[in-house]
Amino acid sequence: MEKTLKKWDFDRHSYSDVPNTYGLELRPPDGTRTRCANCGITIEVSDKGSYVSDQWHNSTGWGYLVCDYCFALEQIARRKAGENEK
Ligand SMILES: [Zn+2]
Repeated sequence: MEKTLKKWDFDRHSYSDVPNTYGLELRPPDGTRTRCANCGITIEVSDKGSYVSDQWHNSTGWGYLVCDYCFALEQIARRKAGENEK
């Protein structure tokens, strides 16, 4: 388990370090429960219960799991940042 999570800022194109307060693992076993890396709610580790984040990464750039709501927000933020570059 890594002590900090890397949170990607879509607008600034840079990471900030956030303490891994929930002790999140990158890939908990399917069928178990973990917490959303963004909002902290309990989520089920499965294809339908969790998503691989585009924003919360480990030190080598792999995504942690987030809930469907936070994943949707990430996609909006990503799209918005992309539009700002044009
Ligand atoms: Zn969430």
